Amino acid sequence: MSAGPGTVHLVGTGPGDGGLMTLRALELIAQADVILHDRLIPEAALAGAREDVVLVDVGKAGHGESVPQDETTALMLAHARAGRSVVRLKGGDPFVFGRGGEEALACREHGIPFEVVPGVTAGIGATAYAGIPVTHRGLASAVAFVTGHEDPGKPDAQVDWARIAAFPGTLVLYMGVRRLPGICERLIAAGRRADEPAAVVERGTLAGQRVVRGTLATVAGLAEQAGVGPPALTVVGPVAALGDRLDWLAAARPLLGVSVAVTRARAQASELAGRLRALGAHVVEAPAISIEPLAARVPDLAGYDLLCVTSPNGVEQLLGRVRDARALAGPAIAAIGPGTARALRERGIEPDVLPDRAVAESLVEALIDVPVRRVLIARAEEGRDLLPAALRERGAQVDVLALYRTVAEPLSDAARAAALGADYATFASASSARFLHAAAGTLAGPRIVSIGPATSAALRELGAEVAVEAAEHTPEGLVEALVADAAVQRPASRHG
Ligand code: SAH
Repeated sequence: MSAGPGTVHLVGTGPGDGGLMTLRALELIAQADVILHDRLIPEAALAGAREDVVLVDVGKAGHGESVPQDETTALMLAHARAGRSVVRLKGGDPFVFGRGGEEALACREHGIPFEVVPGVTAGIGATAYAGIPVTHRGLASAVAFVTGHEDPGKPDAQVDWARIAAFPGTLVLYMGVRRLPGICERLIAAGRRADEPAAVVERGTLAGQRVVRGTLATVAGLAEQAGVGPPALTVVGPVAALGDRLDWLAAARPLLGVSVAVTRARAQASELAGRLRALGAHVVEAPAISIEPLAARVPDLAGYDLLCVTSPNGVEQLLGRVRDARALAGPAIAAIGPGTARALRERGIEPDVLPDRAVAESLVEALIDVPVRRVLIARAEEGRDLLPAALRERGAQVDVLALYRTVAEPLSDAARAAALGADYATFASASSARFLHAAAGTLAGPRIVSIGPATSAALRELGAEVAVEAAEHTPEGLVEALVADAAVQRPASRHG
């Protein structure tokens, strides 16, 4: 292979919601040697990057640039010259007010190959999430993207506000929060109607998105009163008034603006986190526990008439050690609850016994009519004694096979602060409660959501107040209970 320069990829990430990233963007992020990114990129954008990727934050801090543009360009070119694949990540679209054109020109000038991956620009994405179609039959047949970055009073300004005012269509003003009052005045002075509908969209598509609606005359004042800050854009035109009727986000994302700390073991946290994110929540992953497999040998299963599995992790650890699936054909198989049952089904096993409620007490009940002489319970080292004790009482010979233990993962100060500062913290097991408590010193702060009675009892023992307990003891049930609570708590629990 020749050692030519690497390619620079100018990649747009969309306006903030990770779901609006393109497949191509994710593909390039996954293979990049170097990623130079702005501040305004989706939280999840870097999740798929290689572990050994070189990450450089060249984003803007406050109003000044933390890394000057020519330094960013030089860095990008230097990495490419060294033969590395460079991804230059930008919010929205790289060619819409993103200086992507300048960076592309620099590549061309220096003989560096480049590729451009468009993204959903904020003027399309933030507006759509605010229920504002930028064009609409009968209301707007053209749309203009305008930068409000410049001082409208500057004599050598590049934006000619008088001509912008005369534009026959929707105006989308980027970057202009601070300058909005001056811009609106200019537009009105130049003949744009003062009573034309206008809306400011703050943090469009992100947790905490807000929309301030008014007219060209009032919207700047209303935005200021509401304390709107960047990133925000302003839409001027009759379409801005449609947002009232077309608002869809609140119904589709009942957890928008709500932060939730998720405290499951790493492998399972992502499923719960995914569910919560889909509903609009800002998820703080505080994986306070992880799974440590134990060196246990699975005995000959033919000797048992019942096999009990008490967690999805137990399923994974057990089946990972069974070489021949026919070994499982002998005993009846009992799952403690739906999550464990699902883990079994995913591996082609239909449980024979499945209680309605995912607690040991219910499993004991469900087993009342099942004849048992020899039982194997596959579970975590630190499991409860209730199930083995109850089965022994019935005269069964019970072997407990400890396949793994859950161990505490240390939390960084930042992770601890983020978890305790969240609106909610979810607990899907007693051990996750104990471990987070151990890692964080307290559980005070967030409203606490528990998956079921055993977890709630453990939480109370730790001095925590359980605000919500799931009626159905599954991750789905946990999320459902949280959503119901958030609907009641909403005004109080929202961050600005
Ligand atoms: N290349 C970007 C724009 C960069 S300029 C794009 O195509 O979207 C930055 C400006 O974009 C911000 O000042 C703001 O006006 C707008 N913007 C970016 N993200 C936004 C968001 N999530 N919500 C509202 N406006 C946003």
